[in-house]
Amino acid sequence: MRGGGSIRQVCLSERDIIDRLKLTRIINASGTMTNLGASRVAPAAAAMSLEILDHFIDIDELQARACNVIAQATGAEAGCVTSSAASGMTVAIAAAMTGADLSHIERLPESSGLNHEVAIQAGHLINYGAPVTQAIRLAGARVKRLDAMAEGSLSGEEAAALYVVSHHVEEPGLPLSRFIGLCKARSIPVIVDMASEYDLKGPIAAGADVAIYSAHKFLGGLTAGIVAGRKDLIRAVYLQNNGIGRHMKVGKEGIAGVIAALEGWLRRNHEKARRRELDIVVLWLRSLGSIGGLAVAREPDATGNPIDRVRVMPTPEAGLFAWELAERLARRRPSVRVRDDLLREGHFSLDPCNLADGEERLVAEAVAAEVEAARFRKDGLRMSFEAFEAQRRMRLLQWPEGY
Ligand SMILES: *Cc1c(COP(=O)(O)O)cnc(C)c1O
Repeated sequence: MRGGGSIRQVCLSERDIIDRLKLTRIINASGTMTNLGASRVAPAAAAMSLEILDHFIDIDELQARACNVIAQATGAEAGCVTSSAASGMTVAIAAAMTGADLSHIERLPESSGLNHEVAIQAGHLINYGAPVTQAIRLAGARVKRLDAMAEGSLSGEEAAALYVVSHHVEEPGLPLSRFIGLCKARSIPVIVDMASEYDLKGPIAAGADVAIYSAHKFLGGLTAGIVAGRKDLIRAVYLQNNGIGRHMKVGKEGIAGVIAALEGWLRRNHEKARRRELDIVVLWLRSLGSIGGLAVAREPDATGNPIDRVRVMPTPEAGLFAWELAERLARRRPSVRVRDDLLREGHFSLDPCNLADGEERLVAEAVAAEVEAARFRKDGLRMSFEAFEAQRRMRLLQWPEGY
């Protein structure tokens, strides 16, 4: 035995980790964002991951247990755990190209002689922090962009077709069921990126061959991806661990985290969680709506997840642009982070799903304080959106300076 006692004893400390590591304390009103640490990990997932860290296990066996839980949760024949949804896409595409042939698996991304085109509708070519095209190309596949998917768009030689369900997709094109129908007619396997979608059963029920989820978003697992689908394809996905999957490895803690997170999700009182979030939305609508210059609106989720958010739209009377307000909220201590993907359009959103009790009030107070301060100082309405973006990019390009 190595010294130091059990993991549990070691990780408890008097001072909290934010202070110990001199990190910025953050109130997350943006949702599940990779750059903020994704989600508050569910206690059961954290406990199970912690527990397994102190053991040796047979990874094939652990993944086979995960397979059962994923199958139960998604309605698929099989499933396995990857390091992320992004890597799940790459290995799923690799699997569609190689099948269970280890000699092909070991030579990817060199893909000569294999069907290696992946058909995807133009509107699905999004960037979720990295471009989806890169997830395809990493496998050694080539992107076949479909500007208008119709009968005759597919040659039948494609290795797979990829369909993305996400708020990032502005032009969804064909509905999933129709897309699947056209692919099935040509025997092309359909892989669906459902990374942040709550609907665990829908894609498989609709006939998708593979559906991919993030474990660390709404499910509250550790960082990992979940790949569910047809058994032969999932086996081929799993076998990629002898090839490109090795470079995107998930550890025992991530796999255990998925098992616990999915079990927890199946047991979770979704009604209660939803009610709590709606209470926060109502509070924000009331308190922020009474601040002069701010227009607020309830914003249902773009892809139909059971989440409502509050859209905050500063008018000129507020004395600052949306991006200036977002920036000033982020500079506060604790730092308040808002959902900022639509800042360009002059608004941002507040998301209740990752808040600890009481933080919703701190968010509302912070917004009120920043609007009031800007009005008093008259120092807003100065920075263009382009200047704001340039400043942000500059900061990142200087990392680790200034962090
Ligand atoms: C978050 C996200 C991803 C990436 O998921 P990771 O598990 O973080 O790799 C991919 N696609 C979509 C649509 C996403 O929202």
